[in-house]
Amino acid sequence: MAEKRDVVIVGAGPVGFMTALGLARQGIDVTLIDSEKDIVNSPRAAIYHPVTLELLDRVGVIDDCMDIAFHCKRLGMRYPDTGEIIEFNYARAALPDQKYNFNLHFGQHELAAIIGRHLAALPNTRVHWEHRLESLEQQGDRVLLGIETPEGRKEISASWVIGTDGARSTTRRLLGMEFEGFTWPDRFVATNVEVDLTSLGYFDTNMVIDPVNWAVIARLNRGHLWRLTYGEDGALDEETMWDRIPEHYRAFMPPETEYRIDQAAPYRCHERCAPSFRVDRVLMAGDAAHACNPCGGLGLTTGFMDANALFQVLGAVIHGHVGEEALDHYAAERRRIFLEITSPSAQHFKTQMSQKDPRKRAEQRETARKQMENPSSATMSAVISRRIVGDPMPVGRAMAL
Ligand SMILES: Cc1cc2nc3c(=O)[nH]c(=O)nc-3n(C[C@H](O)[C@H](O)[C@H](O)COP(=O)(O)OP(=O)(O)OC[C@H]3O[C@@H](n4cnc5c(N)ncnc54)[C@H](O)[C@@H]3O)c2cc1C
Repeated sequence: MAEKRDVVIVGAGPVGFMTALGLARQGIDVTLIDSEKDIVNSPRAAIYHPVTLELLDRVGVIDDCMDIAFHCKRLGMRYPDTGEIIEFNYARAALPDQKYNFNLHFGQHELAAIIGRHLAALPNTRVHWEHRLESLEQQGDRVLLGIETPEGRKEISASWVIGTDGARSTTRRLLGMEFEGFTWPDRFVATNVEVDLTSLGYFDTNMVIDPVNWAVIARLNRGHLWRLTYGEDGALDEETMWDRIPEHYRAFMPPETEYRIDQAAPYRCHERCAPSFRVDRVLMAGDAAHACNPCGGLGLTTGFMDANALFQVLGAVIHGHVGEEALDHYAAERRRIFLEITSPSAQHFKTQMSQKDPRKRAEQRETARKQMENPSSATMSAVISRRIVGDPMPVGRAMAL
């Protein structure tokens, strides 16, 4: 006999937790399932732009985030070929109505855990770990989910299902969808490292622009934990990635620098999108729906803005304020945002950072300098992320969270 639930969210990553919290704050019964034993702790998202902070504020978790995160106010664009560093101050690019004019830095697993704690305090919410989605069948006004658990297979019948199960989404596969787009040839190596980079002249966020040794370097906490992500040839053996880290680090710090690597992980990065974010009663959000390379920190930003749109519109549908066709608006608008803004911007950042042509690099440097002088027109991720919010959803009436 299948358990009956209202909304089942597949994937307890940051996007799944955020969607669950937004729905639960509207009094909706939410069940979150995840195949892992706990929140995945791999070195991935760490930089959150002002639009994300505004969302964290609206759902009531910002204070907890502010308490543990590093507050970052400046970015340095570094050009090792000329030794130039161009400074970008986030406050100078803030719009008049912008509440936060800095970024927060901390691991996405910590952010998911904070949202999870707030979710657990609400009635009619539950998170089931070690619950792997294996099958999915639309049956009129319900969806039947087949789930593998340590106690064996179980079935849940849900009114609505949301797939937030990441770039390798089972939900997307079970809907028979392709993940259209391409994979970058390089391997991204994300490392978390204890080292004092401030004393070496690094800003709290740095983009190192170089054809070989490009990198994103950002401070992760108020101590000396840094994220250093660089690229290497994707054809090199992944097994020996750790052996090559010291050689890569030498491009960013003198050989005598003392450091301790806390975590390191390789990633193949994609620019891919599902052909639709809705099939009847199944919706998708976050990396399950789209994936981009991490240069610019736009992946989870977009996933959170999906969650923001989806919990509003699905909440309005469930409460009878709007018809189900409003969900098609969600699906079309969020797909448009990824294809027109997120992915082109992420590709632009990645191409700029690893620009091989010295003449183009010099032109980019000149453009960056002008943009830093007039940051409101800058093609900076902090500014782009405002466009990632997208058009308002048709929710019928104002929603109180
Ligand atoms: C190196 C790196 C750095 C990044 N930095 C940033 C950044 O600074 N800012 C930013 O905005 N973005 C960044 N990103 C992107 C960001 O990490 C992703 O966009 C984000 O993880 C997407 O969250 P999600 O919740 O959609 O998916 P995920 O975090 O992948 O979560 C998916 C969840 O689904 C679960 N799951 C999978 N299959 C099943 C199944 N069959 N049944 C049940 N559960 C399942 C998984 O266990 C997992 O918990 C970065 C990415 C990388 C690789």
